[in-house]
Amino acid sequence: MDNKNVYENFDWASFKYEDLKPKVEEILNAIPSDVESILDIGCGNGIITNVLGEKYNVTAVDRSKEALKFVETKKINASADKIPLTDNSFDMVFSSELLEHLPNNVLEGAITEIKRLSKKYIFITVPNAENPNKLLIKCPSCHYIFNSPNHLRSFNIKKLETLFDEYKLLKSFTFGKKVRYYNNLISIIKKNVTPSASWIPYFWVDKAKRNSTCPSCEHQFEYSYKFNVLTAALDTLNVLISPKKPYWLFAIFEKNNKLST
Ligand SMILES: [Zn+2]
Repeated sequence: MDNKNVYENFDWASFKYEDLKPKVEEILNAIPSDVESILDIGCGNGIITNVLGEKYNVTAVDRSKEALKFVETKKINASADKIPLTDNSFDMVFSSELLEHLPNNVLEGAITEIKRLSKKYIFITVPNAENPNKLLIKCPSCHYIFNSPNHLRSFNIKKLETLFDEYKLLKSFTFGKKVRYYNNLISIIKKNVTPSASWIPYFWVDKAKRNSTCPSCEHQFEYSYKFNVLTAALDTLNVLISPKKPYWLFAIFEKNNKLST
């Protein structure tokens, strides 16, 4: 699946600093004090990048030319798995809400690039152990079922530590608004036996924003909610058994330069 056009044509102007202000402040507080240069991979429209650029020497990378138009730092139009820069050229490589969007064939290359380009630190933010099945919608044209914000995978701190296992975990914490986890078994039952019109994004998302583009066939569509008693029962069961937790997971890794002998 290649959702290149969907990503390129995203409404980048709709993504505003005010929505992410507390997160950006938390990121600034967490950056190690000896960092001067930062590479921001998957910078999107630069909401975070532009603020980092006020204090640090920042280079931004994104595969969307449209998104990069909003970025005020040095910038490179490239895919996260193929970045035309030399090894170890940044004190810190930063990547926020990127890894959960990458298909398998890109993820591996992106991790290699993050490690290759970092001289010392790696700072990753991802949704905190979310279940991508929570926010499913269904394309009315090709019937492809996908996560509405296009999250393809989920990370917890253990998974991140495995991805960066030759690095030392310096600091990790969760942050942000508490959101309810969705039980995986219930989500699979829901996906298979209930009508898509009753799923969470169909009633949860503002009516005016219930439009989407299918990442498989690029069909653009609007969706509307229809109550279903089985879905309501399963969602209620989930509320009873699943905890709420902060939405984001932040992790900072440091290169192990002095490996014990
Ligand atoms: Zn489709």
